[in-house]
Amino acid sequence: MTHSSPAISLAEASAAPSAPDDDFGLDTWRRLPRAQQPPWPDPAEVDAVADLLREVPPIVAPNEVDDLRRQLAVVCEGRAFVLQGGDCAETFAANTEEHLQLNLRTLLQMAVVLTYGASLPVVKVARVAGQYSKPRSQDVDAAGLPAYRGDMINSLESTPEARRPDPQRLIRAYANASSAMNMLRAYLGGGLGDLHRVHDWNRDFVRKSPAGQRYESLAREIDRAIDFITACGLTDVAALQTTSVSCSHEALALEYDQALTRVSNGRAYCLSAHFLWVGERTRQLDGAHIDFVSRVANPIGVKIGPDTTPETALDLCERLNPENIPGRLTLVSRMGSRRVREVLPPIVEKVTGNGVKVVWQCDPMHGNTQESSNGYKTRHFDQILDEVLGYFQVHRDSGTHPGGIHVELTGEDVTECLGGAQAIQDLHLPQRYETACDPRLNPQQSLELAFLVAEALRR
Ligand code: PEP
Ligand code: MN
Repeated sequence: MTHSSPAISLAEASAAPSAPDDDFGLDTWRRLPRAQQPPWPDPAEVDAVADLLREVPPIVAPNEVDDLRRQLAVVCEGRAFVLQGGDCAETFAANTEEHLQLNLRTLLQMAVVLTYGASLPVVKVARVAGQYSKPRSQDVDAAGLPAYRGDMINSLESTPEARRPDPQRLIRAYANASSAMNMLRAYLGGGLGDLHRVHDWNRDFVRKSPAGQRYESLAREIDRAIDFITACGLTDVAALQTTSVSCSHEALALEYDQALTRVSNGRAYCLSAHFLWVGERTRQLDGAHIDFVSRVANPIGVKIGPDTTPETALDLCERLNPENIPGRLTLVSRMGSRRVREVLPPIVEKVTGNGVKVVWQCDPMHGNTQESSNGYKTRHFDQILDEVLGYFQVHRDSGTHPGGIHVELTGEDVTECLGGAQAIQDLHLPQRYETACDPRLNPQQSLELAFLVAEALRR
């Protein structure tokens, strides 16, 4: 027994995560009111699929989840910034090498600009590898069909059969999510995130696009900073060559997220993603979703819309982070550009006044949705930017750290959001309106937002 203690710790470190028993209360959500319940035709089939998913290897590992929580703790302390972004709804059809690469590339390009603007490390979190279920405001769509609820539940195709929820889709979601994550890890490991390469893309954006030219001087400053690093001989530093990106999705299809939960070192980890958030429509304090995420060790987010009271925000913090662990909880304000300056300050005051530690993140997309004159669900770039600027203003006034942004974007040249330097107007929307759900920033609008935020951070 002389070597017992190292042997034990080695065994613990390498112990495979196991299926949880009920000590963690991971089934409690099933007894609670659940908003946005998917209308599964046959609950027994859902259970059978979940049993299968309980045995598969998870998408992410517990140590990575802990790592992200620690990175978000640094954000919480004001020494880093978080950039989260990706499709509103991923689809199986668009889960291609090209789409994944373009989205990731856009996120990385924004991150470089923000790193420079904020002079802070940027924690990168993609809406990817599982963002396959959607809350809906209406149960039926404009054509009178059951609403599309994300590829994990039913199909976007406009027929009654395609809209019928199919539990087998949970398995396809798992397969797609794991292959997406596999590809992203491999490409990031192979240098996709190399600082020089990402900055070269940004240089192209500045040189070739009308949107980019306005940012020439900031891009040149970044050039000079990179030249300086190179001249100092720091080119072989791993931090410049590789970067990590975490994956995230809304914790909505709880059957899926629970089935991918495993126990490691005495804690339950939801290993379908590093980061999970609860949406504006499902954040009821005594509802199923808040209960489920309260029981897992992941860093989690909650969307808070314009009707959130300071008391509710504080209750969410106490419910989800009773030990006040920094990095555990992110409050994602999505107030709309017209409301953020009025609604957010008392919330920030109440939460910080009670000594509660949260990451304050801004989602400038979901409070700014409108319908275009020709009937498209859209958002205007100016309002998106204005909400971010309002959020910065609120945090500057309260002396709190504006921890980061959460956006819907794609690396494809879509025409879904209005405005930006390309001046996309209502009549342009039909040209490339491809989203399965909400309108996303295209790469030019995304980069432009990053440059404008970087400028605002330096003021
Ligand atoms: C989303 O992030 O796609 C979403 C539905 O957001 P919210 O819950 O804030 O409306
Ligand atoms: Mn959305």
